[in-house]
Amino acid sequence: MAFAITQACCNDATCVSVCPVNCIHPTPDEPDFATAEMLYVDPATCIDCGACSDACPVDAIHPIDELTGALAAYADINAAYYADRARPVVDGPNFHAWSQPTFAHDIPSDMPALDVAVVGTGPAGMYAVQDLVLHTSASVTLFDRHPVPGGLVRFGVAPDHPSTKMIGETFARFHDHPRVRLRLGVEVGEDVSLDELRSRHDAVIYAVGAASARRLGIPGEDLPGSTTATTVVGWYNGHPDVPADVVDLSAERVVIVGTGNVALDVARILTADPAELAGTSIAPHALARLRSSKVREVVLVARRGPATAAYTAPELLALTARPDVDLVVDDHDPQVGQAIDEGTGKAGVLRGVTREAVDWSVPPRGDRKRIVLSFHRPPEAITGETGVRGLLAGGVEIATGQVISAIGYKGTPVAELPFDDLTGTVPNTAGRVEGLPGVYVVGWIKRGPSGGIGANRTCAQETVASLLSDVTSGALPVRARRRFASVLRRR
Ligand SMILES: Cc1cc2nc3c(=O)[nH]c(=O)nc-3n(C[C@H](O)[C@H](O)[C@H](O)COP(=O)(O)OP(=O)(O)OC[C@H]3O[C@@H](n4cnc5c(N)ncnc54)[C@H](O)[C@@H]3O)c2cc1C
Ligand code: SF4
Ligand code: SF4
Repeated sequence: MAFAITQACCNDATCVSVCPVNCIHPTPDEPDFATAEMLYVDPATCIDCGACSDACPVDAIHPIDELTGALAAYADINAAYYADRARPVVDGPNFHAWSQPTFAHDIPSDMPALDVAVVGTGPAGMYAVQDLVLHTSASVTLFDRHPVPGGLVRFGVAPDHPSTKMIGETFARFHDHPRVRLRLGVEVGEDVSLDELRSRHDAVIYAVGAASARRLGIPGEDLPGSTTATTVVGWYNGHPDVPADVVDLSAERVVIVGTGNVALDVARILTADPAELAGTSIAPHALARLRSSKVREVVLVARRGPATAAYTAPELLALTARPDVDLVVDDHDPQVGQAIDEGTGKAGVLRGVTREAVDWSVPPRGDRKRIVLSFHRPPEAITGETGVRGLLAGGVEIATGQVISAIGYKGTPVAELPFDDLTGTVPNTAGRVEGLPGVYVVGWIKRGPSGGIGANRTCAQETVASLLSDVTSGALPVRARRRFASVLRRR
């Protein structure tokens, strides 16, 4: 028996450093780590010690014989990763290159303990805080514009993924750390300026994420009945900026443009049994509306084919195993079926899924709820005069009263920082903001809105290493320290 990693894996690599026989890959220093959808245990090398399972912050690692339902497939998925790979030779205790971050430079002994401001309590900000607090004597003032911390762990991750949300508890341990001051409900750039932060801290790290939705740029996008996944995700997670009544579930068919993991999240929640969501963190107003929802079919419309669609294979696999919701592939293009039969790229996950030539001009039929994947259908226009009547995509009008665009997030300009409008990021070199010594970025605002929670750990490691290197090289201006807390309280 061995252990296997499952769907909830967020690639933070915590398990890698605790495995005594180096059987979890790819590791952060291996080339395919950056593009891996998850990590995998080599069943031939695993000695079944359980250390990885204890260390995983999202409960993603289980003994193979305890995997049931949709998770049962992960024994083979883990093994398949190693099928055509050379196995590492283990001839003694394993010392990983990847472990807790360490820093090449010693902080000079005459340097007072650093005082760092971190703006944003999402994963990127919290990994930066964790690095600073665990590996230096720095004090951190942690800001968030919201009254509750967590960023997208709180307001993005779907409520039916409770094990992923659990990582918020790992981060929350640092909110109470004696060298961390948590300032919630403070919007940097509004309640306090960058200049004020810089004059009272040795360094400022922005971890403000990428909160806005990318636009489709097609006619009809602003019609009533057309919205974004950003809004729907905020709605079901109780985001303070999203009104409780903003999502209308009176249409039988909802069309989502996009097939990324966020599109899958929205499709799952809109077709879920409200009774099963009742015990989750879902916002009460969303649960109430889902209980009276008319939605019976959610159609995911993709520009690309199933082999290169934006979702990750583990998230798609989870959709294929739902007992109460059918998954169907729209059989309008022979290339789609061919890619699935050949198992090209991610298309193999759809083997065995029903294919059907759907009549898009009529409302959905049948009693069971279903999710339809329609590939090779570039969206052309949202139709309707006073409200959404349909989505024109791939030359066909799909009749619907609700279109949700889920084509990605985008960073918005950050007050007082340079901004690259094309990428939606703050221009930086290894986290150092161009032209502003002592100011750094981390997470989605640094590298753009892609990558799961764990990707922000290596990203934070790089930014904090840049900051500490600047401390030792004397590149950080020394600040006059004033009573900042009283200024904040006054505001
Ligand atoms: C809908 C959705 C679902 C996801 N689900 C998963 C999943 O299941 N598993 C997974 O691994 N990854 C998931 N991800 C990806 C993951 O959430 C991101 O990788 C991660 O949240 C990015 O971290 P961040 O810290 O850069 O940004 P964020 O998490 O967005 O944090 C930014 C924080 O900065 C604060 N802030 C912004 N501006 C200011 C300001 N001016 N002053 C003060 N505070 C400010 C915000 O309030 C927020 O708290 C999901 C992403 C989305 C969008
Ligand atoms: S979430 Fe982290 S610790 Fe858990 S399996 Fe994935 S990489 Fe390993
Ligand atoms: S159970 Fe032990 S040996 Fe197996 S992958 Fe986990 S840490 Fe490594």
